[in-house]
Amino acid sequence: MKTTGANSASGRPQPAVLTDFDDTAAVQNVAEMLLNRFGDPDWIDVRQRFRDGHINLKEYQEITFRNIQTDRATMQSYVKEHASLRPFFGELWGFCQANGIPMAVVSQGLDFYIKALLERDGYNRVPVYAVDTEFRGGEIIYHYNHTSPGKESQGNSKGFVVKSFQERGYHVFFAGDGHSDLEAARVADVTFAHRTLAKFCDDESIPYHPFEDFKGMLLAVRNFSNNGHGPNVDHQA
Ligand SMILES: [Mg+2]
Repeated sequence: MKTTGANSASGRPQPAVLTDFDDTAAVQNVAEMLLNRFGDPDWIDVRQRFRDGHINLKEYQEITFRNIQTDRATMQSYVKEHASLRPFFGELWGFCQANGIPMAVVSQGLDFYIKALLERDGYNRVPVYAVDTEFRGGEIIYHYNHTSPGKESQGNSKGFVVKSFQERGYHVFFAGDGHSDLEAARVADVTFAHRTLAKFCDDESIPYHPFEDFKGMLLAVRNFSNNGHGPNVDHQA
């Protein structure tokens, strides 16, 4: 049920900003960076099984990270040393903070590496909707707290997170790059897409803005916030 909780005094919806992490908020695919450095070399074969549709993303991630013997702190240090956030991430976060606009990372990845990079750059207050992990006795336990009802076996759902913001009355701006972002792009009010996601959006005639960094998103959110509408969509398929 829609609520007016996120509407401004004028009755206009308030924006909310959601972004994918690997290859979007982060310049790199941090999951693959960790697998390359610490994983079993056969993770590439597991990724191929995932790409060929034999296993889902949840299974791919659990299988490949299961073989890692390295502890959480070591992996977090590695991320802090080698990964980086995309330009204008901080400016967008600052604008959202100053204007009471929710902004969050929505990822199918693992919380510990996402939080490591956010913390390094001082963004530890950015909410993270990802796979929550627990390192226990040399094993990683996975918690999926953002699943679509009835589809729990698929793991977290970005579309579910987008819809949960819309149900609270928000006009959702979403940025992503990959296959797992498609379900979010289908329902988001405004999509910023690059790489594979842009191709999927073209195929499905989903309007989107090309994404390179967060500058365009910052301008669009600021414009919406000030005027109640976004810029014209650049790529109307
Ligand atoms: Mg991604």
